[in-house]
Amino acid sequence: MTRTLVVLGHGMVGHRLVTDLRAKDTTGTWRIVILCEEPHPAYDRAGMSSYFDGKSGAEISLVSAEFLADPLVDLRLAATATKIDRATRTVTTPNSTTPIGYDALVLATGSRPFLPPVPGCDLPGCFVYRTLDDLDAIQAAATAGRPGVVIGGGLLGLEAANALRLLGMRPHVVEMAPHLMPAQLDDAGAQLLARLVGPLGLQLYCGTAIKSIEAGADGRVCGVTLADDSVIAADLVVFSAGVRPRDELAGPAGLETAERGGILVDDRCRTSDPRIWAVGECAAVHGRCYGLVTPGYRMAEVVVDQLLGLGEPSFPGADMSTKLKLLGVEVASFGDAHAATAGAIELTYTDNAAGTYTKLVLGADVRTLLGGILAGDADAYALLRSLVGHELPTSPEQLLRRSS
Ligand SMILES: Cc1cc2nc3c(=O)[nH]c(=O)nc-3n(C[C@H](O)[C@H](O)[C@H](O)COP(=O)(O)OP(=O)(O)OC[C@H]3O[C@@H](n4cnc5c(N)ncnc54)[C@H](O)[C@@H]3O)c2cc1C
Repeated sequence: MTRTLVVLGHGMVGHRLVTDLRAKDTTGTWRIVILCEEPHPAYDRAGMSSYFDGKSGAEISLVSAEFLADPLVDLRLAATATKIDRATRTVTTPNSTTPIGYDALVLATGSRPFLPPVPGCDLPGCFVYRTLDDLDAIQAAATAGRPGVVIGGGLLGLEAANALRLLGMRPHVVEMAPHLMPAQLDDAGAQLLARLVGPLGLQLYCGTAIKSIEAGADGRVCGVTLADDSVIAADLVVFSAGVRPRDELAGPAGLETAERGGILVDDRCRTSDPRIWAVGECAAVHGRCYGLVTPGYRMAEVVVDQLLGLGEPSFPGADMSTKLKLLGVEVASFGDAHAATAGAIELTYTDNAAGTYTKLVLGADVRTLLGGILAGDADAYALLRSLVGHELPTSPEQLLRRSS
């Protein structure tokens, strides 16, 4: 008998879960209803900034014509689930007259951008950077040659600043931490990054908070006031100050949420209700949320295998290593990049002429690699990442120079 799986959210992880299930469910045991809040089917959110490099929405779409034509997939666009009723095993959306019944339910509702509660944060001209619609709205509001401020100098904030640059604006980036990309880089790596992106016209303000967003006579954003009362003129403001898991359906449905947010699940991504799972950025696996896509894909696999009765898979956890090219600069961090392990030793090498910085974090034995940072050139990332937890094959000094 065919059973119904309802998936809430058609983002990167929700889509992966459905395509995995369709690939493995060769006898068609599951019919899948997907409720997708956005008006577009799933797209490559991690790669969506390429929209400003000339890629179209269709080019970053993750969805094939076969997927849309699959009779066992019922994808409903612009359909937000507003309530889960566990007693009747139904989900409600404002645009469906009858609640949608489920045999199994997966929440894949992702995250929402965090808006710091500063006066003026909701003025016209304030944006976030999460969806294709956000990008369209930013594009519509952007005027070449005018200043724009990005709040947040992390990975996404720098992507947003680059987007403003590609729209011809003059981007200013305000970061509360003492340096850019505090989650991935140390001070020296961030200084190098700042030096390399400087010529691109980004104005950086690190170690400072924002006090308020100012409105002009037309009621729209006209500037940002910093903690020292200085004002940066701005036609628009993009908030990129972190994300919060979208767990709002959980509480009212009697599902537990984690202390720091996210739908609480075990290492099989199960909530306290055996028919309900959570995957991707909305899931807090034993209380921990993962803000990257690869761990979400692993969670999707784990749930698909359970839906099909394929063994007892579990999510093994994931490290938050990243390698990326930002504003033309390669940056990578892996393992214990901030040397948080007791007794850890940091070895660094900067080549100012080449514009590279390498840091290796070693255990107290000065042989075991715990993590590191690469900026300017991240070619050694794959090799070094594979060595984490192992003794170095050569002296750290040699490795440092070879990596930079
Ligand atoms: C600009 C940008 C760059 C990024 N770069 C990287 C990167 O380089 N590497 C990396 O690993 N990650 C990156 N990420 C993060 C990555 O995109 C996310 O980890 C990934 O998209 C998470 O997938 P998800 O399906 O859990 O959530 P999402 O992709 O956010 O999808 C969740 C979907 O659920 C919908 N939804 C929410 N509530 C409901 C509801 N009640 N009913 C119906 N639908 C609902 C949302 O509207 C959304 O469409 C980036 C993110 C952004 C924004």
